[in-house]
Amino acid sequence: MLKIINPATEEVVQEVPTDSVSSVREKFARARENQPAWAATPLVQKLDMIQKFRGFLESDKEELARILTTEVGKPIAQARNEVQGTLGRIDFFLAKTAEILKPRSVFKDSGIEEVIAHEPLGVIANISAWNYPYFVGSNVFIPALLTGNCVLYKPSEFATLTGLAISERLQRAGVPVNAFIPLIGDGAIGSEILKHSVNGVFFTGSYPTGKKIATAVAGRMIKVQLELGGKDPVYVCDDAQVATAAEGLADGAFYNNGQSCCSVERIYVHAAIHDTFVEHFVETVKAFVLGNPMDDNTYIGAVTRPAQIDVLEKQVADALTKGAQLLVGGKKVTGRKGHYFQPTVFTNVNHTMEMMREESFGPLIGIQKVANDDEALKLMNDTKYGLTAGVYSATKARALGLMALVNSGSVYWNCCDRVSPRLPWSGRGHSGMGATLSEEGISTFLQPKAYHLRG
Ligand code: NAD
Repeated sequence: MLKIINPATEEVVQEVPTDSVSSVREKFARARENQPAWAATPLVQKLDMIQKFRGFLESDKEELARILTTEVGKPIAQARNEVQGTLGRIDFFLAKTAEILKPRSVFKDSGIEEVIAHEPLGVIANISAWNYPYFVGSNVFIPALLTGNCVLYKPSEFATLTGLAISERLQRAGVPVNAFIPLIGDGAIGSEILKHSVNGVFFTGSYPTGKKIATAVAGRMIKVQLELGGKDPVYVCDDAQVATAAEGLADGAFYNNGQSCCSVERIYVHAAIHDTFVEHFVETVKAFVLGNPMDDNTYIGAVTRPAQIDVLEKQVADALTKGAQLLVGGKKVTGRKGHYFQPTVFTNVNHTMEMMREESFGPLIGIQKVANDDEALKLMNDTKYGLTAGVYSATKARALGLMALVNSGSVYWNCCDRVSPRLPWSGRGHSGMGATLSEEGISTFLQPKAYHLRG
């Protein structure tokens, strides 16, 4: 049994039966057997099912947001935003899949025709994270299903009830029980799935787990797509709108308690505006309401995994030892039930400190003063990760020049912590490989077949 614990109250919400070695084997066999039938199901029927699923998300938004908040501690307003935001992603997949699946005649001459067609990968494993279970899950299982793959879906053990709620609604919408199959449990169940001959693994989670997964399937020549962590930098130039940048970046660093893969994790500020920026930033952070995630006005909820509090405490201690200046926060919240950490801001930080090198994945940010664009760029690229990076400047050409030289999958000008269904979502280095979203995030679930036709 898996105990679902509310991180805001430490109460056991529910106990859920987990999968086992034999049930994983049986579920894989069912998916494998059913996959040709699911692939042969006309696209129009698949689209209809996903449209119905979308309808359930919309009609059940409040209930689903409450389940999410209860198990991950996300503020209820942000949980509603996540369910609502998923609708636009589904709309994108509904609108684009037919076009991508259509075979294309690319050459016709002297009795020969050449056609490019696409086939599903087959049975895929989707091993998922808890921080945005609707977003990161639907980025995978919606296009995977629409393109004819059967999906073995393992929600994170910290978002199991959400995973089950998704699964129940997909089935109610008509998706066959053998086309989308949830697998419940922790990392042991995740690694068990990989023992079977799946045709692809689509993983969202941390770099250490991504590395284990890539190692486990290495040599099998199957598709491996990894969406991993980040240490996302932003540079605020001396010509930026200081107050707007500070407010936007405080939100980018602390939304979802900093537990986003694309949270702002490092801020570099030009010396000419550094002090004013810091003043606005700290003022914004001090106004954030920390509290019961079920309250509508809570902005900082509970930290989902208790173990992350230790990571944050270590980063704080390391930064203090090395001379960083603590401006606000710095401690776990005591005197109340639940796992909470004060929103924390440091200045006078540098790259010898863990908080500027390792993913914090919590309400913690370092602000470093820089002398010029060259120094900022050098520091932004001084990382193993490469998910997102941003530049705040009044001059588009200046920002674009820097953005072209940053090694990351997404770049932002005067914005941050943003994902669009129309753009590919991809990481470099320890942030992963492959892309979800955009047309590329549909094609990734397909394998091409080249037809040479004479006659
Ligand atoms: P995690 O790596 O701890 O777990 C992710 C999933 O992997 C869970 O379902 C877990 O049960 C499973 N798992 C654990 N060990 C496994 C193993 N040996 N074999 C197979 N599966 C195993 O990550 P998390 O705590 O759920 O998520 C947080 C991390 O995810 C952060 O690093 C965050 O940046 C990253 N993330 C990245 C993106 C992105 O799009 N790049 C999006 C969301 C989260």
